[in-house]
Amino acid sequence: MTAQDRLADRESVIQVTNMNKWYGDFHVLRDINLDVKQGERIVICGPSGSGKSTMIRCLNRLEEHQQGNVTVNGIELTDNVKNIEVIRKDVCMVFQHFNLFPHLTVLENLTLAPMFVLKRKKEEAEATAMKYLERVKIAEQANKYPGQLSGGQQQRVAIARSLCMNPKVMLFDEPTSALDPEMIKEVLDVMVELAEEGMTMLCVTHEMGFAKLVADRVIFMDAGQIIEQNEPHEFFANPQNDRTKLFLSQIL
Ligand code: ADP
Ligand code: MG
Repeated sequence: MTAQDRLADRESVIQVTNMNKWYGDFHVLRDINLDVKQGERIVICGPSGSGKSTMIRCLNRLEEHQQGNVTVNGIELTDNVKNIEVIRKDVCMVFQHFNLFPHLTVLENLTLAPMFVLKRKKEEAEATAMKYLERVKIAEQANKYPGQLSGGQQQRVAIARSLCMNPKVMLFDEPTSALDPEMIKEVLDVMVELAEEGMTMLCVTHEMGFAKLVADRVIFMDAGQIIEQNEPHEFFANPQNDRTKLFLSQIL
């Protein structure tokens, strides 16, 4: 079954229309249009500085756009704080540098948001946390501090932390770029499992093996624009734009 067939009758979870963003005078995102279906797995690639992080950060308002519309689950992202809170529960981000709280244990990192944002009881939050720590194969580290773990382990904790919020969409911003090579696979394996279980995912990554394995669509960005997008086989076999060809020739 092709990705198009699989996603044909799915609803959109994210709709972006003509989004533009500036940092001061610098026009960082130009006329971004994007429709993400429920269960869709998108890989975003492109040169450093092309606006990939900024684009996905606009999807849960870690950055604000100045023109156009971003709608998540039917709620438009404006400066309405209540809406932003609602959307942040549903759209979680995994960062390149993990962003765990260093002074909290692994378990405390996982229970913080469920207790204070979702108002879960401590016991319930801990039970959920342990379930997800087991899932990323790291339950035995629950009482350690992030600094006592390897990078690969910290990133798996960060993924488990997102899962504790029961998100509808997960955003990944180069989740393996800061890892030593031998740790990349343990993180990608978790991401592949999530993809296979149907999680809606947008992943900024240059792991093209991952893209080929799970992506329904690969998006190439350059200079703040979406230059080209396609299902992975076509994207890699037949890139259309010269900038895409150049980029692929440099990373593959
Ligand atoms: P990518 O993730 O593709 O490497 P970014 O989205 O991080 O690109 O950045 C896009 C451009 O915006 C870069 O030129 C970067 O220097 C600039 N930029 C990113 N964040 C800021 C900021 N907070 N203020 C000003 N410029 C920024
Ligand atoms: Mg980036």
